[in-house]
Amino acid sequence: MINMGSSLGKFFNPNSLVLLGASSKEGSIGYEILKSILKFGFTGKIFVINPNAKEILGLRCNSNFEEISAKIDLAIILLSKNIVIQGFQECVRKGIKNVIVVTAGFKEVGDEGAKLENELLKIAMENQVRLIGPNCMGLINTEPSVKLNATFAAELPKHSKTAFLSQSGALAAAVLNTISQTGFSFGQFISVGNKADINENDLLDYWADDPDVDVITMYLESFEDGRKFFNTARRISSTKSIIVLKGACSDAGSKAAISHTGALASADKIVNTALKQCGAIRVETIEEMFETASAFQKFSLPKGNRVAVLTNAGGPGILLVDELERNNLKLSSLSINTTKRLREILLPESSFGNPVDMLPGATAQIYKEAVEIILNDEIVDSLVIIFVEPVMIDSFDVLTALSELQLNSSKPVLISAFPLPKFWPRWNELGDKKTIIYKSLELPPKILRHLWERKQRIEELNTNRKLFSKLKTKERDDLQKIFDRNKDHLIQQKDLQAVCKKLKLPIVKSMLVENFKEAKQKIKSLKFPLVLKIESSDIIHKSDVGGVITNIKNLRELESAFKKIRQNLKKQKMAGKNASYLLQEFVDGGIEVIIGGFRDPSFGPVIMFGAGGKLVELIKDNNFALAPLAKHEAENLILKSKIYPVLEGFRGEKEIDIKPLIEILLLCSELMTSFDDIKEFDINPLIAKPGRGKSKIVDMRIRI
Ligand code: ADP
Ligand code: MG
Repeated sequence: MINMGSSLGKFFNPNSLVLLGASSKEGSIGYEILKSILKFGFTGKIFVINPNAKEILGLRCNSNFEEISAKIDLAIILLSKNIVIQGFQECVRKGIKNVIVVTAGFKEVGDEGAKLENELLKIAMENQVRLIGPNCMGLINTEPSVKLNATFAAELPKHSKTAFLSQSGALAAAVLNTISQTGFSFGQFISVGNKADINENDLLDYWADDPDVDVITMYLESFEDGRKFFNTARRISSTKSIIVLKGACSDAGSKAAISHTGALASADKIVNTALKQCGAIRVETIEEMFETASAFQKFSLPKGNRVAVLTNAGGPGILLVDELERNNLKLSSLSINTTKRLREILLPESSFGNPVDMLPGATAQIYKEAVEIILNDEIVDSLVIIFVEPVMIDSFDVLTALSELQLNSSKPVLISAFPLPKFWPRWNELGDKKTIIYKSLELPPKILRHLWERKQRIEELNTNRKLFSKLKTKERDDLQKIFDRNKDHLIQQKDLQAVCKKLKLPIVKSMLVENFKEAKQKIKSLKFPLVLKIESSDIIHKSDVGGVITNIKNLRELESAFKKIRQNLKKQKMAGKNASYLLQEFVDGGIEVIIGGFRDPSFGPVIMFGAGGKLVELIKDNNFALAPLAKHEAENLILKSKIYPVLEGFRGEKEIDIKPLIEILLLCSELMTSFDDIKEFDINPLIAKPGRGKSKIVDMRIRI
């Protein structure tokens, strides 16, 4: 087994490196990478192997490894595809344990390439060599004691405690090519390419222990092992922020046939769920990713989501308020005292509500005083300041004052500024470099949302994850036996009753019968009113084919219910050959909810909760969480659902206690995590009612 974490250190902090495939041809990758390494001033030793050149860029070339006696930490392979394996083997013989293969033409081009890539991986595994790539862009470490730029990017970011991983080399190039305009900063960058060996999970592990990294940003198109990512991220994200930009959000959806849950869970939704639950922040653009990363390093986290807006321009203030709303933030009210003090310093024509509009005449001094007054208000959690440069006001003075306020505030103070163009060169020369000034109205609300999200996630992560486990060994064995005899299909109705009994899931009293005659004989164990349902493995949505009749009050009605269902099936040309009937007690009133579970191919067991019944696809109240659920996660699933206000007692209805629902969710979570054979299950509906033990499952399927 390879040591995952520490073996990555030599990639970012090598004492010596060797290039295989460095070229003297200007413009080639083999030339440009060497040029970058030299230009950026790598502090370690550099070796070049090239039997055809004496020197490149003033560096003496070796014709093979035998000429190098020094130990080498890192090899970078830029060779043409057909000799990559050979070069790799030479590195192995030299005892190099860290290799980056930049060369393309592997898995990404088809079967032939995939074979080659497997061969590479095999050699790596057999020799405990860690491999980055192939088909990648290299790596960067801007740490002053290392200064390694092993990419062909001409521009470099400023150093910061952000680490950046990109699955796409081209996206990384796009970021690096524009760094002088965007000003994005990061300390370590890695392009993981095809992820043959090293992937995002290894880097999460590695950066988790790197004191030089506070924020981890990742551009990902796929998760190598979603569950592992989830577990690692959850472990580290209360101390390090993880920001993910996920591309390829295709809506493949799970192909599960029987359950609503599977159909409602698009791959992207599960990614969203997993990222949230493990404490990571998901962003939608490159800009948002890097701006959020620097915001995390700059601002303290807000106590709440109430935002004040201070502006010298009406329109921008209004737009910003709209954006706040779109980002689920609240416009803070201002205390009486705050308003009173603002009146003392601002023109009487100003707006003293929130947003506070000081009108264009506001000077640096007025800005300063107003900001201090607002920040002093207990009700305000964070502040956005808008400045549009008017004539007569010196923008440099204003922004200098604002910069100071931002740097000294314990609440987030975000600045959106629109000065005249001549401001920027002056600011870049003389302004405080630590200040963050946004040039947009859309960004600050997004940033604030992420800060607020992060605050909540940290609180959630710090909540004790009490493990829930109700099943005893005996029950577990019994359940396993039931599942074993239902392999590869839906659990049969009679077994379903047993499963619920063992799990203490409140399934409604039911009975299987073949016909009315049998029903009449056995009916004593059930109480009218009843429900009659068709029961057949061919019929998935029973009510769609007229196979459910509810509120049957007596035997006469029951007899005609049998007839009716038979007729309905006939009409639809359904023979219902192996069909039997399910008789249930009727649950009167209540609110229908759905609970489901399935296995995501990458993230593993997932639990869903939402509004249930026949309208489930229409209402789309599907809320997911990865199992096993902790108690507060089960509770959150319910609290964030659209149906929750209804459960709480909508328009004078009696409130439904959610404690039993939480318990059921936890039992379902245990079911999914304890029995790997369960592919999916679907409870739709559970009819929730006020009062202990009144809520009942009336329809459930489990697929093994
Ligand atoms: P299917 O989902 O296959 O159409 P269900 O068994 O879920 O069949 O029944 C459909 C609907 O009938 C439920 O959503 C619920 O509204 C109602 N229903 C079914 N069983 C009962 C019952 N025992 N008590 C009350 N209503 C029921
Ligand atoms: Mg149903």
